[in-house]
Amino acid sequence: MTEKLFDLAQTAIPGGVNSPVRAFGSVGGDPIFVQRAQGAYIYDTDGRQYVDLVCTWGPSLLGHAHPQVVEDVTKAAQKGLSFGAPTLMETRLANAITARVPAAQKVRMVSTGTEATMTAIRLARGFTGRNLIVKFAGCYHGHSDALLAAAGSGLATQGLPGSAGVTASTAADTLVLPYNDAAALEKTFQMRGTEIAAVITEAAPANMGIVPPRADFNQTIRTVTAKYRALMISDEVLTGFRCSPSGFWGIDGGYRVGALPAELPPRAETSAVARQKWCEDATAGAAYVPDIFTFGKVVGGGMPLAALGGRAEIMDYLAPVGPVYQAGTLSGNPLATAAGYATLRLADAEVYARVDAASAALQTELRTALDHAGLPYCLNTAGNLFSVFFGEVPACHGVSNYEDAGQQNASMYRAFFHAMLKGGVALPPSCFEAWFVSAAHDEDALNRIMAALPDAVTAAGNAATEK
Ligand SMILES: *Cc1c(COP(=O)(O)O)cnc(C)c1O
Repeated sequence: MTEKLFDLAQTAIPGGVNSPVRAFGSVGGDPIFVQRAQGAYIYDTDGRQYVDLVCTWGPSLLGHAHPQVVEDVTKAAQKGLSFGAPTLMETRLANAITARVPAAQKVRMVSTGTEATMTAIRLARGFTGRNLIVKFAGCYHGHSDALLAAAGSGLATQGLPGSAGVTASTAADTLVLPYNDAAALEKTFQMRGTEIAAVITEAAPANMGIVPPRADFNQTIRTVTAKYRALMISDEVLTGFRCSPSGFWGIDGGYRVGALPAELPPRAETSAVARQKWCEDATAGAAYVPDIFTFGKVVGGGMPLAALGGRAEIMDYLAPVGPVYQAGTLSGNPLATAAGYATLRLADAEVYARVDAASAALQTELRTALDHAGLPYCLNTAGNLFSVFFGEVPACHGVSNYEDAGQQNASMYRAFFHAMLKGGVALPPSCFEAWFVSAAHDEDALNRIMAALPDAVTAAGNAATEK
């Protein structure tokens, strides 16, 4: 049935999908058509069950269809699907975001991560009066024109340097540098520092596979941008509220939410001055503080919601207070804010402990199986996110940028992926993506993954020798 549905989809929708990676282009074969999902599992239209290691590419932190989230969204739906006017829930969600990431002193909500990063760079340009944006090869920041150069994710999967339809002049305003290369960053700023509005970076790159920042790389970005009065935009669309309550910044920025669930103190909720002071006190001990953060995925709890947040002085450059225009019919949508708020409220210390533990257990099983078979691989981690690069080159040299990621053996992953799928485990259908677990990935889910591993390891080994 699934194959037939894909044929039908292809007649109606370009490539049969509404986002390219879903088409299984790089691993081959037809995508599974999903009927429903619950907890750690997804079910296809033939009724087959799979342990889900995609987790809707990140949003599913609590597991699919968490009863409390579904209940809150259902209640919200009964009160109306969209108003185009402000609601209390938007302020609540903004406060929940600021409580966990106090450097996001004020928050603007949008519907997709793409809009969040697009708005962040427009805001940076408006605030600094400069044109150039620096991004790193292999970092994905959504599909807006300015950010599609060497962009990882689906472009990496399909081997595309950029996209048709992006003008040369737009591309010329984006400088692309190798990731984890502090010297290249410093040199670029020496040459053109006063023209650069912002450096945008994934807090920990997760769209070329996982490539963690070298120790102090994020701090170096902060130091260099501050020196030239450019802004630092930390894209936490994928890592935010997943790697820790404060995203990846909570891991390498020295900022940790204390008691969970974190709430703003009442005075900070009602007075701008008290809020600013609370935020500044809370970030005083941080190793570095980006100017703007972008969020998505987990923050919407599976609904179309994303956000950007940053220093109040910068955020107030946005309309209607400031001159940088940004808007959205569905921005701050009541169903989306209900899902996001419920998700953040439920994402307590125990949830993060479970996600971390599930990720660690899976990594151990994977390493054991691959080592036992003597297969070459490099397993990279960033907090509870991880991915595997197969092949001799990654195994010998590691993977610390996009060029390294391109050295992996894609046919080994392809074979591994299909054997796992056959064994009832749905991995990301590309070797350039992170593996995701949720708080619902319990022992049962882990046991199913372990049961599927031996065949998958054999398949990867066969693919390694075939060439
Ligand atoms: C997914 C992602 C985006 C884009 O978000 P969409 O909601 O897909 O537009 C931007 N940045 C990063 C780091 C992402 O992982």
